Amino acid sequence: MFFGEIMNQVLNVAVFEGDGIGPEIMAPTVDILRLLTSRASTYGLNFISLKGGATHYQKTGVSLPDDSLSTARKADAILLSAMGLPSVRYPDGTEISPQIDLRKKLNLFAGVRPVTVLPGQASPIARPDGKPIDFVLVRESTEGLFWSQGCGEVSHDEARETLVITRKTSQKLFEFTFKLAEQRRKTGRGKGLVTCVDKANVFRAFAFFREIFDAEAGNHADIAANHAYVDATALWMVQKPWEFDVLVTENMFGDILSDLGAGLMGGLGLAPSADIGEGHAVFQPCHGSAPDIAGQGVANPFAMILSAAMMLDWLGHEHDNKELLEHSEILREAVNALIMERKFLTRDLGGTSNTGAAANAIKSKLRA
Ligand code: NAD
Repeated sequence: MFFGEIMNQVLNVAVFEGDGIGPEIMAPTVDILRLLTSRASTYGLNFISLKGGATHYQKTGVSLPDDSLSTARKADAILLSAMGLPSVRYPDGTEISPQIDLRKKLNLFAGVRPVTVLPGQASPIARPDGKPIDFVLVRESTEGLFWSQGCGEVSHDEARETLVITRKTSQKLFEFTFKLAEQRRKTGRGKGLVTCVDKANVFRAFAFFREIFDAEAGNHADIAANHAYVDATALWMVQKPWEFDVLVTENMFGDILSDLGAGLMGGLGLAPSADIGEGHAVFQPCHGSAPDIAGQGVANPFAMILSAAMMLDWLGHEHDNKELLEHSEILREAVNALIMERKFLTRDLGGTSNTGAAANAIKSKLRA
């Protein structure tokens, strides 16, 4: 490379527009990413649309086609809206859920669920000092009780599901979590504390989980570590969530606590997420396909757009690209500004804007 030459990395983003409100929130998100990318000098994004989901299953009998999976596997990142419809089920009565299949097939063990409540944001709780609430829940996403999906034993009189926790996955999960706490502290967003959320007082599997956590904590003298039982964590997430920084937990506990986190944020429409593994990652809102409002143009696009901001941040770290990190921050700030100003909010947040108007307001912020 010559002096002054600009490196332009083109990154492939696999896009699953999904079911229900999925296509309605994905289209404006991709438009917004295109707007940001049009100003980029060091990276580009190439969007590849992939098939999969409940509607695709209804048409073809396949929920996640092999070619979609192999293209997603080769992509630099995967952007997914929401998949599944309550009326579309496998013969065993469970819903089709390719988003969970992707986590397992790509080994996306770390489900990252940020919880942010900004000053002025409508929330059932208020921090007494008026400062923002900002913590992250890391949900193990490939094993735990979800390991049992599709393998539960059900007879007329009894049903059994098995929870699995492995040393290998737990070690990777905790390494990831401590690294995240280090990153948050460096950028001034966290105080450098990781809390292991478990039920080690009752179950051997969680005593095992905790022991592996403690061993990893010993490798990070610069980050504080403590433990909390999951039931107490639910209480403290409501009473004093500002005391948390990074929480790490088993799959099912994380599934439940992340919806509690979304509740603190005023609803699922503001809750982004990332499912991260080694070299692969899926970025999608915490919410589902919201069939009750699909087709009305009223879905809140913010959680999807915040998930796209998380994707830019992850790509920035993976490819050591500062511009991606900056663009992630610019996008997050644009959404945050609207939330704090309480402008262009959709119905779920007490506003009157439709999906298009809310997304256009973000574009205007970015142009400004
Ligand atoms: P849901 O998250 O789709 O909806 C719950 C409630 O929140 C509904 O009232 C809905 O209208 C509202 N809501 C959700 N997202 C919204 C948004 N962006 N803007 C405004 N309101 C929003 O949960 P559900 O009804 O339990 O599930 C519906 C379908 O989605 C099911 O088939 C479920 O399996 C699937 N699902 C998929 C994912 C995923 O793809 N990751 C996650 C959860 C549920």
